[in-house]
Amino acid sequence: MSTTYERDADGGYRRGYEYGRNGNPTRALLEKALASLEGGATSATFASGTAACLAVLHTVGPGGHVLATEDCYHGTLRQLQELLPEMGIEASLVDTTDLDSVRSGLRDNTRLIWVETPSNPLLRISDIAALAKLAHENGCRLACDNTFGTPVLQHPLSFGADYSVHSSTKYIGGHSDVTGGAVIAARDDGHFEKVRRWQSKGGAVPSPFDCWLQLRSLNTLPLRVRQQAASALLLAEFLQNHERVSLVHYPGLSDHSGHALAARQMRADEQPRCGGVLSFEVRGGEAAAMSVAARTQLFIRATSLGGVESLIEHRASVEGPDSKAPPGLLRLAVGIEHVEDLRSDLDQALAR
Ligand SMILES: *Cc1c(COP(=O)(O)O)cnc(C)c1O
Repeated sequence: MSTTYERDADGGYRRGYEYGRNGNPTRALLEKALASLEGGATSATFASGTAACLAVLHTVGPGGHVLATEDCYHGTLRQLQELLPEMGIEASLVDTTDLDSVRSGLRDNTRLIWVETPSNPLLRISDIAALAKLAHENGCRLACDNTFGTPVLQHPLSFGADYSVHSSTKYIGGHSDVTGGAVIAARDDGHFEKVRRWQSKGGAVPSPFDCWLQLRSLNTLPLRVRQQAASALLLAEFLQNHERVSLVHYPGLSDHSGHALAARQMRADEQPRCGGVLSFEVRGGEAAAMSVAARTQLFIRATSLGGVESLIEHRASVEGPDSKAPPGLLRLAVGIEHVEDLRSDLDQALAR
């Protein structure tokens, strides 16, 4: 927990640490573990996913432009639309599932493509390898928000992305008890040095205890994520056949538009596993969706995802008037409870 470290008699710091904001042994362990999980050269951790996103976005620099997934996390959208213009950075949004749209969205000053796949809450799938190629051919970098993908199921760097970004508050923390973020880098180069500098000079660093909590959670990350993905698929299949449900958004379903791509990009144990988040649309719109969410007993009505407890959320009312979420849409963040209990809970909530 120390914030300061003893200097050597000769004034040096041969033991590696001088002040907690610049570096701490527990944080160093977490950063090493996260980099190795996704085949990165290095990583930097932050006090939140939001701080990790901004650390990468700010590298675009004044006069530059970033092209981002149109249905990206609403907090990222706020950064793109409100914070970046104040830093002299232009941002525009595009459907990153459509490469032609991405190509025509590129500008002379585009320096970064920001992709979120699967996206939120519609679980659309973008082709990381194709976007990396397009980015590099045009002198840009590719950053992928891999929060939904998790280090267990999706390795953006192996498809050519330069950065993989996480809200560790979600699957990495996994117990809804720690806020954190991480940037994993393909190369430890001068560009990543800007992210590191933002970490220590910007100061949005995680505490040693927060790092310890995340290290503890990494031990069970593969077990949790495999169970969450397996349960999400079963629940998606159940909902797809339910008469009160008009549409299910889950890339694990064979009729989802991104299914084939997701099956290539998201895998564990040699099998496609498409993550623990899905959404579905209740017939009857907002009022019907709200009443389903009101009746669940096991699914907790709360925002966030990636924890061991299952959550249900009406996205449109959380995101506000500019939300792209359909009014009847409910998002499920599947936890690790017994899947039969989860299924009966949805069944009774939909039946009444
Ligand atoms: C939650 C989330 C973030 C922001 O992370 P915080 O830890 O809440 O700051 C960014 N991207 C995605 C996809 C998220 O789900």
